[in-house]
This record gives sequence, C-alpha cells and structure tokens, in this order.
Amino acid sequence: MRPERRSGLSPGHRGNPLRRSTPFDPSSLAHQRRGKLYLPEPPHRRPDGQEAFDDMHQTMSYGVFVIVASMAMRTLAAAPALLAQGGALPKVVIVTTGGTIAGGPAGARYTGEDFLRAVPQIGKIAQVSVEEFTRVGSSKITPTHWLGLAKRINQIFRERPDVTGVLVTHGTDSLEETAYFLNLTVRDRRPVVVVGAMRDWSKIAPDGPVNLYNGVRVAISPDAVGKGALVVLNDEINSARDVRKTDALRLHTFRALNQGMLGVADEDRVIFYRQSLNRHTADSEFDVSRIDSLPHVPMVADYTGSDGQVLLNEAARGAQGIVVMGFPSGLLSDGSSGTAVELASRGVPVVITSRAPLGRVSDSYRVGQPGAPRPIAGRDLSLQKARILLMLALTRTRDFQEIQRIFDTY
Ligand code: ASP
Repeated sequence: MRPERRSGLSPGHRGNPLRRSTPFDPSSLAHQRRGKLYLPEPPHRRPDGQEAFDDMHQTMSYGVFVIVASMAMRTLAAAPALLAQGGALPKVVIVTTGGTIAGGPAGARYTGEDFLRAVPQIGKIAQVSVEEFTRVGSSKITPTHWLGLAKRINQIFRERPDVTGVLVTHGTDSLEETAYFLNLTVRDRRPVVVVGAMRDWSKIAPDGPVNLYNGVRVAISPDAVGKGALVVLNDEINSARDVRKTDALRLHTFRALNQGMLGVADEDRVIFYRQSLNRHTADSEFDVSRIDSLPHVPMVADYTGSDGQVLLNEAARGAQGIVVMGFPSGLLSDGSSGTAVELASRGVPVVITSRAPLGRVSDSYRVGQPGAPRPIAGRDLSLQKARILLMLALTRTRDFQEIQRIFDTY
C-alpha cells in the first residue's frame, strides 16, 4: 500500500484541521500554571511524515522503505519553517490580554495554557510558550497597557532570536488600536499577530479556536515577515493599520474598508495577496523603550451647529493635542473650524479625521489657510488610530509640518 503523499508546504501553509475536528468540550479545561512551554506531540504523532514511517516500517520491505523514506525526506526538506532550529518546530510566544477570546461558561476565564489544551492542533505546528500580560475586557485597555505590551514584545524579540513570531490575544472592541500601536512601536520584522473572538467558549460555535490556530499559522508563515502587525480573524489577514471593527456582533467584523485585506488563512494554506505601503515596525521612527506615559490627546466628534467650545475646554484641561472627527471630507462646523484654527495658531496640534469609514481627509478640503498654522489632515486613519499616531508623533515633535509628514507616512 502506498503511503499518502504529504504536502511540502510549511506548517503555516498546512491545512486547517479545525475545520474537521470534533467540537471543543470546554468542561475538559483546567487552569494551568503560567509560563509553561508546550511542546508538540511526540514525533510519531506529528503530521509531518513520521507517522507514515512507523506504519511503513511494519508493512513494507526494507527496499521499498528506503525509497519511500528518501522521498519523504525530500518533502520534509521543502518545509523550512518546520525544520528551522535543527528540525524543531518554529517557536511562537502567545501573550494574552483577556477579552471574549478568554471568556467561557459562567464567567470562566481561559488562560494561554487553556488555549493550547483546547486547540491541540497548535502544538503540531509550533512550539508555543504562553504568558499572561493582563486579563481585561478591551474597553479597559489603556495607553499604559499599549506601552507595556510593546516593550514586552520588543524584549521577547531582543532576547529570543529563536522565536519566529508573537501572537497576542485581545478583546475585539479595542483590538485594532492595540494592534496599530504595536505596528508603530515593535521594532522587528518578525510577525506580530493579534487575534480575538466574537463568540466566547460557551457559545455553540466559538470562533476563538480557529482564530488562535490561524493566528499561529500566520505567525509562523515566512510570508508574514516584514508585513507589520497583523490582525487575523474569520480566516482573513488584515493590516493592523487599516483594519476596523465594523460590526458589533458578526464574525466578519474586521475589515480594511479602504484598502482591503492583505490575505487569507484558508484551510489549505496561508496566502498574502498584498502588503501595506505605510511605514511600520522595523522601519518605524517611534521608540518607546524609554517612555513611561503618552501625551494626553482627547478625541472630539464635531457636529452640525457646534460652537467649538468643547475643543477649547479640552485645550484648557491640558490636552497636548486634539483629534477631531469632522465631516466626511474633513470639513468642520463653523464653530469647530474657527476654534481649531485658533488652537493651531496657539501651537496646539489639532488633527482632523473623517466621519466616513471610506475615503480620506484630502488637501482639497483642509481647514485653515495654507502657509498659516492650521489643523493637520488625519488622512484615512480612524479617529482612534489618528489619536494613537498623534500621541506617538508628540513624543518626537510639535512641529505641524513634521506631524503632517508623520500622518502621510504611517
Ligand atoms: N467586550 C469584549 C472585549 O473587547 C468584546 C470582545 O472581546 O469581542 O474585550
């Protein structure tokens, strides 16, 4: 009997067994110690050809065995990620932060160790170590969390040249903000993948398991290197810069409406179709290693008939910059427009974003006069992401032209 031919694709490209697995039983989970290294299944149970060797050894003659073994060895040689570090599986660090992906029945909380027990397929493609960074719903995430997480991931990459990629688990409500912050502040080309879930482990069809597995597949994909921080949910890979949570309830919520997804984590393989041209990660100019807090930058939504007083109030309360969600092209109400220009003349940077999820704040509709201090165009960034970029920009400069360059670059 001829053994089944094995794919030569790297594990990141390997098929998705979660599509065929029996449903996950949450009652089988137990909280485990922190920081344990989860090794993959013993070699005879790996999906890498070794299992076939065992069967063949009993049933085939020695000559046939040698021929088939050499074929299998050639196949394995075509899987560089699998064979990295002298035959070991690629190493991934999972950093957990909480959110629905960590939620279970009757308020149970799932740790990184629980994830690995629940999705044993992960151990077949990667050597995973887990650590808990925090355990909160993502509406409780603060800029202090962003700084700490970026520093921790930079530290992992600095101290662990053997690590192939980092996977962050996060609540979906502010996932895109943390992911964009990491996109701007993790200074390494290795993949940082952020995943979450829309349905917790108590639901009929939780999406956490497949998102975790796909996140690891992307984190070990050679094609993910140098693509910046990535968000993987619902089998889709999006750039952390471009993606937004667009639907409060449904699984296909994370979309890059302007730019489109970067690729897919399909059952048979991980594919990248394109990459973001905005600067990120290893090419970023933002260094948070010696920063303990970020500048105070509130967000304000403009509205028809506004007198602009809310902008003055924020400036009076010590805002070091303000981000305004203006009308779709970037225009403001008369009250807000006058106030934004006045604040600009006083040296307070005001960044204007668009209330429309598609398009951008173009130069044709910029508030203020060219040549005079005027508000900065937030381009196609959402209000929340423009706030993050302004906070980081203000760690380097207060020059308006420089800030506009930063908004045209990241
Ligand atoms: N409220 C949750 C959070 O963002 C929602 C989720 O994770 O999907 O933490």
